[in-house]
Amino acid sequence: MGKVILAVSAHPDDIEFHCGGTMSKLKDKGYEIHYAIATNGENGFKIEHKSRAARVKVRHKEQLKAAKLLGVREVFFLNYRDCHLPKNDELRLKLVSIIKKVRPDVIFSFDPANKSFESINLNHRDHRVIAEAVFDAVFAARNRYFSAGESHAVSRFWFYGPDKPNHYESITDHISKKIELIEAHRSQFDKKETMEKWVKEHLSKYTRKYKFSEKFRVVDIKKPFVNT
Ligand SMILES: [Zn+2]
Repeated sequence: MGKVILAVSAHPDDIEFHCGGTMSKLKDKGYEIHYAIATNGENGFKIEHKSRAARVKVRHKEQLKAAKLLGVREVFFLNYRDCHLPKNDELRLKLVSIIKKVRPDVIFSFDPANKSFESINLNHRDHRVIAEAVFDAVFAARNRYFSAGESHAVSRFWFYGPDKPNHYESITDHISKKIELIEAHRSQFDKKETMEKWVKEHLSKYTRKYKFSEKFRVVDIKKPFVNT
């Protein structure tokens, strides 16, 4: 597996909540990590008393803080409105140009196959939209005729937020770092202790194999029969 990662999310904090421990683990292993954040997350409820512009500013600042704590190479903000992520060609093209620029071997993103609608948070509209847009952008980035710039073939998806995970990554040694990364998103929770307890409880339940883990559906992208 190559050493360049692009993690894509719908909102600031999605990456930290869903795969912050794995990011920390891979960073320590020498991976180069990039983030792309689709919306500004300004509808986050803990900062509702501020103007929209101020809320956007807070959430960008928090995401940049978390990225800096991890040592992320670059954060791309796509600047869409929270809860209004459009499912269109503009979004797909923006993602394709980031993929062509970063040239990742692995992409982390929401699982487009999770249509269980069992969780009002996990199956959020923006999560569903970004999941499919990323999947489609990975296809388009392989195609030399789709858009300007040299084509690029991603090797593997690590889908987070799966309803049918096929991989559990142990993050037992990275739990403190994960909590620290989530803590950077100060506008998203009341008390650190409550957040920490909630996160640890969740991550201890995924599998009995590890004390704390994150769950994924890992998909290898097979080379096509003919070159696109
Ligand atoms: Zn989200």
